[in-house]
Amino acid sequence: MDGQVKRVAEWLAQARSVCVSTGAGMTAESGVPTFRDAQPGHWSRFRPEDLATPEAFDRDPRFVWGWYRRRRAKLRKIEPHVGHVLLSEWESRLPNFTVVTQNVDGLHHRAGSQHVIELHGRLDAARCVSCNYQRSDLDDLGEDPKCPDCSERLRPGVVWFGEALPSGAIEAAYAAAGTCELMLVIGTSGVVQPAAALAGAAREAHAHVVEINPAPTPISDVADVCLRSTCSAALSAIDVVWKAMGA
Ligand code: ZN
Repeated sequence: MDGQVKRVAEWLAQARSVCVSTGAGMTAESGVPTFRDAQPGHWSRFRPEDLATPEAFDRDPRFVWGWYRRRRAKLRKIEPHVGHVLLSEWESRLPNFTVVTQNVDGLHHRAGSQHVIELHGRLDAARCVSCNYQRSDLDDLGEDPKCPDCSERLRPGVVWFGEALPSGAIEAAYAAAGTCELMLVIGTSGVVQPAAALAGAAREAHAHVVEINPAPTPISDVADVCLRSTCSAALSAIDVVWKAMGA
């Protein structure tokens, strides 16, 4: 893997614009139980597909908010890992650096990344079902919170099954992918769109595409380099080589 790491470090050192796409693998290394992990207690009777939908929320908003409250509590106990921290450091060393993430945990922000496009929203956010009201501090949120502006219901600020991704976020993500010189695709299965399509857009724009994932994915076919490793190990290895080059 050493030669490949060196190639990536060289591309990184030369790139004026970098786009990073992160998926569930990035979060998993922080020890966050993924969506699909076994759910303890009475939640174990429900599949995420039955809770994270507009229909479930319409049926029983208190119940769905309760599930999200539990997920937020779990998230508070974990920290960004070295991979998150390195991406934030790299952003401060490079002119144009964008992270596009499918993750809803906010760990990139907590690690210090500034320019993050969160395609699926945030666990620690709520928004009005009717107007544009949003809030990110959910500490004193009630069991069935209402909008202070229009009195309609507030809902979790995440994208649910069957919902379209926010168009502004999608456009920004394609703009970042289509103008970058280096694209890093980290810890995504490549099955959930638009991760694969973003890698394709970067490829068409003649960017170098690097995949970091322990196992092959559909993105491997368009990648110039595939590092078969965990996110934190691969990013640490690239960082060491880049710093040794005098960055
Ligand atoms: Zn409202």
